[in-house]
Amino acid sequence: MPGGSTMWNDLREFLDCLERQGELVTAERQVDTKYEISAGLQRTSELQGPALLFRNVKGYKIPVTGAIFSTRKRVLLALDMTRENYVQRFLKGLENPIPPKISESGPCQEVVLTGDDLDVRKLPNPFHAPRDGGLYITGGVAIAKHPEYGRNASIHRHMIIGRNKLTSLFAPQRHLDIYRRTMEEKGKPLDVAVAIGMDPVIVIASQTTPPRGIYGDELAVAGGLRGEPVELTKCKTIDVEVPSTSEIVIEGRFLPNVRAEEGPFGEAAGYYGSGEEAPVIEVTAITMRRNPIYQAIGSGKPPAEIHGLVAIPKEASFYKHMKQICPTLKAVHFTPGGTTQHHVAVSINQIHKHQAKNVILAALGAGFMVKHVVVVDDDIDIYNPTEIEWAIATRVQADSDVYIFPNIIGGPVDPSRKDNAIVSGMGIDATRPYGEHFAEVVEIPGTKDFELPIAKNERGR
Ligand code: MN
Repeated sequence: MPGGSTMWNDLREFLDCLERQGELVTAERQVDTKYEISAGLQRTSELQGPALLFRNVKGYKIPVTGAIFSTRKRVLLALDMTRENYVQRFLKGLENPIPPKISESGPCQEVVLTGDDLDVRKLPNPFHAPRDGGLYITGGVAIAKHPEYGRNASIHRHMIIGRNKLTSLFAPQRHLDIYRRTMEEKGKPLDVAVAIGMDPVIVIASQTTPPRGIYGDELAVAGGLRGEPVELTKCKTIDVEVPSTSEIVIEGRFLPNVRAEEGPFGEAAGYYGSGEEAPVIEVTAITMRRNPIYQAIGSGKPPAEIHGLVAIPKEASFYKHMKQICPTLKAVHFTPGGTTQHHVAVSINQIHKHQAKNVILAALGAGFMVKHVVVVDDDIDIYNPTEIEWAIATRVQADSDVYIFPNIIGGPVDPSRKDNAIVSGMGIDATRPYGEHFAEVVEIPGTKDFELPIAKNERGR
């Protein structure tokens, strides 16, 4: 990361940094792609432990890494941001995109497999959960171009249905699906590349939803976040460019009017999503670096890796929206237990009576698929679940501080939802009544800076 800006050349550089900081451990013992890799990713996510690198994957020569994004700490490390500055710095990157630069060749094409030589099943794709419909690529960034809308980069799940066939599952209104549909309506395929293993900033940027046009390019957002353009290389068999230092690239095209059975899959809500018909990618080439590293992203019951990946981009955009409604907003947090989608905690510095009620209305109506929102005063650390619960326990009377909104639009992956992503919204005003006397909080001077003596078994670590 030269020059102090966020500039990882590739995944490997970030893995080296994680290792130096004790944030990556290498598993030398043999692991099976069936459940064992995903079990490791889930366990370390639950413990908020290190990222993992599996060097010895049974039946495969390619090592697998994962759980890179399992903790907020590592996502911030990838972005070179802190808990204090990430909202402003992330928005700066989002709002000042730097278009990528194209180069003729890149390390991602050191090995090129086409025709009978290509087989996506030869990649160490994990079997994530027992009821899954097949092997899934979960850590691939899908990149495509549209004649009108420009480039798009996003992560979708891809089930492997053959040597050269994948499915892609889309939530409603995802940009890549809109690209694919508009081509399909003309009876045409859409070229798409699925790149696996790259500069982590690109993966994080793929989780943003910039407006369309030049600013709609998530790879330009990655440039904005890095402070330098992302370097892309032209694919061998399709009209798409991919990050030059990607570890593995699957080139292909969405076949018009072709569907295949997809799922079930252990989704980020923590439940299996049922199988359905999904669009199909026909793979035209697999390119890779010499000695590539495969990256998986853990999914499933929170806290899984996927929850760590989506939180920060979402919080930055949500903060910007909410700040316009509540100028005295302090912080927002999509909590992992809320699947980083259904629950948001918001802290405000109250300057009006009943202000929290407006914040609740804005949060539920913001289009972020929020189902439950809790609003607290700015003395509460909303990254600390104990503090949020304490505010609810001591500043809420349910008959007057809880607001229920029947039948609003929610997320598509909530198993308790009513028809068609319809849910009931709830807001909890856990702020102290504005302008009224309230019991004084116990604060012991020196607590924050008190230096605890180091325990014996921690010495020399
Ligand atoms: Mn997009």
